Amino acid sequence: MTDPLDERDIAGAPLAVVARAAEPYLASLPDRPVHDRAQDPLLDELDGPLPDTGDGAVAAVERLVRIGTRAATHSSGPRFFHFVVGGSTPAAMAGDWAASLLDQAAGLWLTSPLAARAETVVLRWLKELFGLPPGFGGVLTPSATLAHVAGLAAARHWWAAGHGVDVASQGLAGLPAMPVLTSGLVHVSTRKALQILGCGRDTLRTFARDDAGRVDLEAMDAALAGAGGPAVIVANLGEVNTGDSDPITELADLAERHGAWLHVDGAFGLFAALSPRTAHLAQGVERADSVTADGHKWLNVPYESGFSFVRDPASLSRAFGAWGAAYLPDADEERINYNMLGPESSRRARALPIWATLRAYGRDGYREMVERHLDVAAHLGGLVEAAPDLELLAPVRLCIACFRYRPEGVPEERLDELNARLGEALLADGRVYAGTSTYRGMTVFRPAPLNWRTTKSDVERLVDVLRELGARLTG
Ligand SMILES: *Cc1c(COP(=O)(O)O)cnc(C)c1O
Repeated sequence: MTDPLDERDIAGAPLAVVARAAEPYLASLPDRPVHDRAQDPLLDELDGPLPDTGDGAVAAVERLVRIGTRAATHSSGPRFFHFVVGGSTPAAMAGDWAASLLDQAAGLWLTSPLAARAETVVLRWLKELFGLPPGFGGVLTPSATLAHVAGLAAARHWWAAGHGVDVASQGLAGLPAMPVLTSGLVHVSTRKALQILGCGRDTLRTFARDDAGRVDLEAMDAALAGAGGPAVIVANLGEVNTGDSDPITELADLAERHGAWLHVDGAFGLFAALSPRTAHLAQGVERADSVTADGHKWLNVPYESGFSFVRDPASLSRAFGAWGAAYLPDADEERINYNMLGPESSRRARALPIWATLRAYGRDGYREMVERHLDVAAHLGGLVEAAPDLELLAPVRLCIACFRYRPEGVPEERLDELNARLGEALLADGRVYAGTSTYRGMTVFRPAPLNWRTTKSDVERLVDVLRELGARLTG
């Protein structure tokens, strides 16, 4: 096979290969191990020299699907609890395939009115879902990290303007460091965004009153009073070790009092707004200047999917628009060019899987799913408390239970090493997936059940396997 033009009449055939594999693969997810290391040698079959003569699409895709369905980490199944990772609802996955099928150049209205309109619609639906004001602007991004880049670039533009500089055009030279203040709950991606933006990741100042990272409002208040100019507050809604959140309303009050920019990281925590049981945690987000969230976590849309919302819609175009290229069309209320509102230029129709899943399950479906996950996490917390060899380390909040293995007779100073080895053993075993993290200086597990497939029996399995492997390590 040489020129792909030779396949123009059979272009659907490789898609049929994927579609045929989809049914049995998806049906296998509830029962198969999350990762089977015995399949890792298959990865060698991806390797080899660049072929001179190609295999043709069907053979190439058959090979890819054969390797992939065996050697992948089956993280879209119900028992992948490492980090904060979502799955992909049936509608979202099919919507994503549709995005590939249609292959829209989704940066400009001119190249795809479909993608632009779908993005406008899903941003409006998401604002409704999260209780954000309808007047907020927004843009879809590949991730929460890039949503931080969008929101904090808007903040940086506002801050530099306060110093009389148009940072989009002139850059940061000659300006002082931008003051960015947060609590100990801050996620590393905020530092990464500041690093990308040239603000420096280590300029971030954290104000914590305890080793769990809870915010010291008085100290932050005093620092804002002494900042001598505009400043940025980052509020954290849903921390990755315990699901804990900053008091958003109090931080919004501080921002208001000091004329600061309020940026909220709600990567998964913003979904607290979906249930009356947790909505109080998200209260105050509607007062933020910029808000970050992820689609590929609790929304259960395939990678890559994130969103940035901003109070002043023009703040994104000030930060990302007007590239000085005469051939690009001007912005317009109706015909929105989303590549002027975020860090990407060319981009895919990221709205389509979001549209499909919101259309399929609606506000009620998502509330039910979120509440199921709240129940599953609480159930996990209960199992941990009931187990004599497990120790719950924080109250269960949102979808996270933070605990460690602590069998009788093991001295405190050996627990970190034991839990680290147990984490390794769990990943090597592969039946359930959860690794370790560090919380208040301890090596801990902090599984986050937020996959749409996950039910109570999956976290029961996690506890059973953990205790079984733990007993083997200590026995
Ligand atoms: C996952 C996460 C991020 C980063 O999200 P990406 O989509 O991986 O870029 C930021 N903040 C919090 C609280 C997160 O859980």
